[in-house]
Amino acid sequence: MTQTMPDDLWRNFPRTATEFEARFATEEACRAYWIEARWGGEPACARCSSTRVWTIREGTTFECADCGHQTSLTSGTLLEKTHKPLKVWFRAIFEISTRRTGISAKDLQRIMGFGSYKTAWSWLHKLRAAMVRPEREPLGPFVQVDETLVGGKGGPHKELVLVAAEANGRVRLAHVENNDEGTIERFAEGQIAADAQVVTDGLASYNSDSLGERPHEAIVQTKAERREKDALQGCHWATSLLKRWLLGTHAGAVRPKHLQAYLDEFAFRHNRRKTVGVGRIAARVIERLVAREPLTMRKLIDQTPRCRWFASDQYAVA
Ligand SMILES: [Zn+2]
Repeated sequence: MTQTMPDDLWRNFPRTATEFEARFATEEACRAYWIEARWGGEPACARCSSTRVWTIREGTTFECADCGHQTSLTSGTLLEKTHKPLKVWFRAIFEISTRRTGISAKDLQRIMGFGSYKTAWSWLHKLRAAMVRPEREPLGPFVQVDETLVGGKGGPHKELVLVAAEANGRVRLAHVENNDEGTIERFAEGQIAADAQVVTDGLASYNSDSLGERPHEAIVQTKAERREKDALQGCHWATSLLKRWLLGTHAGAVRPKHLQAYLDEFAFRHNRRKTVGVGRIAARVIERLVAREPLTMRKLIDQTPRCRWFASDQYAVA
């Protein structure tokens, strides 16, 4: 049984790079933390849940005294089958978690000294997967909803993104096919509290069919009015940061089929922008890494449907 104590782990997590380096200087220290995050400090057999296990293969695997099954530290997690030490993963997690603007695969390759771009790319995608839906509390009590087009650097192709933002708070973003009522309804159901007050622009598909019982105000503003007091300021602010981030950190090179993963990463960072001690964001990423199903390279490449947000149950309403 998993008995994690993520809140304690989070509270005691190194807050700065210096603290981080001191705490996770050895592979043993990283493993101890991993075991704490994954099993609450007491590793259990993946087959029979027995905690009567001993360490084999230089500490990378536990063998069960009751059924003989061997459970590796990383099997059943996003890091399954990794050949790299946890210490290297922890370093990468710290790098991507603590930079306010994130990191590109190219930068990660350079910082970590990886021989191949492909390795850096797949690491980033795994870590990005650990940033998916880190919180399930729907947005409220005052929520702005808007849509924007991103991508297509210099080209004609743009992707539609729905944006929901609390006033000066959290955001949620979804890559969608269109902005019809059904799509907005699914988005609202998963992301916006049932009693939240919603503000939108005048788009006709924001109505009681798509927003349900939520009190809704459609505000149509002229440019001058918007300059004076923008009714969708939270959305517009998030959107402009998002676009700058996609162009800056990722040089506008995000492909449509991966867009949702980038949106998730953006929201994860954005929603933690006030975290005290940036190092602790890394604790949240590790917490998700141990909890998530393995994600192989093939899965990353093949099974990313164009509109992941609605296609995969990991995005389902919780
Ligand atoms: Zn067992």
